[in-house]
Order: sequence, then structure tokens, then C-alpha cells
Amino acid sequence: MALPALLARLTCREYKNWMKAGMCLEMLHSRLHGYIDREMQMFHRLLSQHIPAPGQRRRCQCRARGKQFEPGCSVCAQWKELILSHHNNRNGEIYWGNSDPSMWPTHYWEVAKVYMPRGQTQYRRPKQSDATALLNLLNNCNYFNIQNTSRVREIIKCRNELMHSCNMKVSSTWLEAFGKKMHDLISEFTHVPGLVKEGEKMQEVLLSDWKVEDLGICDVDGIPKAQSGIELQSATIYTRLLPYDVERRMIEQMIQELSLEIVERGSLTKEDEDKVCKIRNFLSQNEDLRIVFQEDLQWLDCLSKNNFAPNAERIFTEKFARYFLFCLMVILAAFIVGEIY
Ligand SMILES: [Zn+2]
Repeated sequence: MALPALLARLTCREYKNWMKAGMCLEMLHSRLHGYIDREMQMFHRLLSQHIPAPGQRRRCQCRARGKQFEPGCSVCAQWKELILSHHNNRNGEIYWGNSDPSMWPTHYWEVAKVYMPRGQTQYRRPKQSDATALLNLLNNCNYFNIQNTSRVREIIKCRNELMHSCNMKVSSTWLEAFGKKMHDLISEFTHVPGLVKEGEKMQEVLLSDWKVEDLGICDVDGIPKAQSGIELQSATIYTRLLPYDVERRMIEQMIQELSLEIVERGSLTKEDEDKVCKIRNFLSQNEDLRIVFQEDLQWLDCLSKNNFAPNAERIFTEKFARYFLFCLMVILAAFIVGEIY
């Protein structure tokens, strides 16, 4: 049922534009995360050489919260100074609460998350952080030595515009400008394996009509399958990156960002109320999405009744606790299967 409902939504050009841009960001992420993983491990090794290893001592009790972090031990104080010395925005907002300082000496990704926007706390690997988080890392960490960081910032700006478009629509003019900015960004990263090729596929996505009959997919037990003879290049993309997965991830990110903003602020502005109302109406009007986002609707309902505290925060925390537990189970299962075979 999900696919026909999605196809119906895709009859709206502006909604289709919104999703195409989201798909390009996913494609960018698919090539960037491996590269950033390797680079961050090297950067972490480099930083570690400046700080004496903590040896066999137990992990310290230092914890960061939100934009605040006051080191409680000399190791964390040295790491903080070192991280800041490589931060391009050291006088601006830094979300120390993204990371666990006691893990800085041993876990490279805990260091990386200091260069990212809020909402990264539960992520342990680059693959879990979305495209904008990785782009922020590239923009904020001078280890990456990017010649023209404005190209990175332009795509971050585009992504924020996508996430703030509560009716989930962007114009064709916007999409065209986005395509050019994406092309410029990729030209800064031609050394990233596979990215140039991925950029060509992105241009195909942006230029294709995405007509229902051209999608080259049909619904078989909810699994899209490529049909023969039509839009083979598009079909290749879709079998790897499914449109409805992209759609769900985009909506999920939109709700998560709105939630983080509201929880951090501790109150609801008029603008928040409008956003909540629009997202809630959109989900309610689409049955397939209403089922998938049942918990989020509960949270949005709670907000729209201006019943923010304490229920809203509790629901939000529980939702992410469950998500984290699910991720742990997947990793555990993968480990067990790996051990058996
Ligand atoms: Zn410490």
C-alpha cells in the first residue's frame, strides 16, 4: 500500500522536487561517510600523539551538556583545547553535549561529533550521522583543509531549507539552483572515491521527470522491483536507494530537528506551532505515513495542545531510547552472525 500512496504524492511537482533533493543528499552521504570515517581516524591518531595516553586508568566522569563543557580532569582539558584549536567556529556555538568527553582518547567519532550540529549524541559511526552533520564536520574542522568552504555551506543551507519547508515542497527554480550548488560541491571533493560518478547520477535524478510510469518500479509485497525496458538508469538508482525510504528518512529528520529545537528551548514559539500543525496535518492526511509515524503524531499532538512539559519530553526521550535499543540489537545480531560464519 505504501508505494501507490507515494506515487499519488509524486503527482505534485513541488513535492517531487523536495524528494529529489533529499535523494541527492542521501547519495552524497553514501559516498562521504566512508571517506570521512578514514580521515577522522587519521585525524584522531594525529591528535592522540599530542596527549599522553591515559594508560590503564578508568574512564573519567566528565560529562558535557548542550553547549556547555567544563573539564573535570586534565586529560579532558587537553583534549578540549586541542579540539578547539582545529575548530573553524571556536567562538560560535559548539554542541559539546553531542559527545562523551571520557571517550575522546579512545573513540575517534566522539571527537568528530564536537564539530557537528546538535542531535548526534546516540550515534557511534559516520554512517549514522546524516549528510548535513558530515558537511558541518567538513566545514568546521580545519583538518580537512577545504579550499572553498562556501560550497559546503551552500549545501548545508539548502538542506536546512528543505527541512524547514513544512509543506514539503520546493520550486523547480530552487531545485535547479540546488543542482548547480551540488555540482560545485562535488568539484571540491573529486578525491573522494566514487563521488564524481555519484554526482552524475544525481544530475540524472534531478533531470528525470519521475513520472509514475517512468519510475520503473512496481509493488511486489512492498518490495519495489525494476521493470524491464524503461528508464534503466533510473531503475538502477532506485533499486539501491528506494524513494519511499528517502521520503520517510526526510520526514523523520524534519520531526527530529523540530523536536530537538523545541526541547532545547523548552517552549513553543508561534512559528513552531505552525510547523507542528502543518506536519501533523500532512501525516494525518496520508494513511500510509500516519501508520509509520504513529509515535511522532502522538508527540506532535502533545505539542499542538501546548502540553509541552513534561509529557512531550518524556515521549521524545522514550522514542529515541527505543531507537537506540533497536540499533544495539542490530549490531549484536550482525556480530553473532559474523561469529557463526
Ligand atoms: Zn575527564
